[in-house]
Amino acid sequence: MITSRTHLVGLLGYPIEHSVSPAMHNAAFAHLGLDWAYLPLPVLPDRLGEALRGLPALGFRGANLTIPHKEQALAYLDDVTPEAQALGAVNTITIEDYKLVGHNTDAAGFLAALTEAGGQHQRAVVLGAGGAARAVVYVLRKIGVSVTVANRTLERALRLPVDVCALDAPSLGAALEQADLLVNATPVGMWPAVEASPLPEGLTLSPDLTVFDLVYNPLQTRLLQQARLAGAKTISGFDMLVYQGAAAFRLWTGMAPPLEVMRQAAYGHLVT
Ligand code: NAP
Repeated sequence: MITSRTHLVGLLGYPIEHSVSPAMHNAAFAHLGLDWAYLPLPVLPDRLGEALRGLPALGFRGANLTIPHKEQALAYLDDVTPEAQALGAVNTITIEDYKLVGHNTDAAGFLAALTEAGGQHQRAVVLGAGGAARAVVYVLRKIGVSVTVANRTLERALRLPVDVCALDAPSLGAALEQADLLVNATPVGMWPAVEASPLPEGLTLSPDLTVFDLVYNPLQTRLLQQARLAGAKTISGFDMLVYQGAAAFRLWTGMAPPLEVMRQAAYGHLVT
């Protein structure tokens, strides 16, 4: 039961009704017997500043941020980790002494999922140049993987400190010939448009590739199906989702996150 002593955290986003984060975190709190609660907080884009400033006064211990607030939030925080600053995006907030501190656990979530899948990578192609792609590029460069970004809008890709190419079959095909890792950081293939793939028509994947799709709903995206058919190794965005949540849980509570409990709860709340 939620009482006046319950520690509160929440998810600020819009819309957020399909988010699995409340189920994932509340299951973790319940499993460890913690008097904590995670609340879904739908916040309109033009109300973000007011909402964030109200959290410390209401006694919140932290928050998650999702679309469309991850970038705008930086303007309202008291402090930001160097990583979140470098990425220009915050997905987790901790609150200490009425101060809001911004973190980015998407990067840690991506790295944990990639590491868990194993294998060594030298050269990656990343599809997309938005917030998630920035986290992916940041991690890959940090672990010494060279990166080519292919984006629908080439100018946006050119802002990243990597090689770029057009998102068409000849350009992408040439980039993939050199690559051992392909990451989809676009929303293409996400429910309900589950038949869509970010791969241009006429492109075939090598069985030597590892294909990591950040889209986690559905679990088996069209891209991951194409990768499987080609004999390539696959990594689901669902693993990253659980790991980024686990990293936030650790930041708020200081405790080891119960990963399997979080995984099961998130899985049970996917809307497909
Ligand atoms: P974003 O900032 O809006 O960026 C979206 C990117 O995808 C842009 O580069 C955009 O290209 C490209 N794109 C969008 N629609 C496209 C289309 N129809 N064809 C080709 N390219 C298209 O979004 P984001 O925050 O980076 O999120 C991207 C995806 O990652 C979402 O599906 C999100 O759910 C997922 N994600 C997953 C996790 C996880 O834990 N698994 C974490 C974070 C994000 P333009 O530049 O041309 O517009």
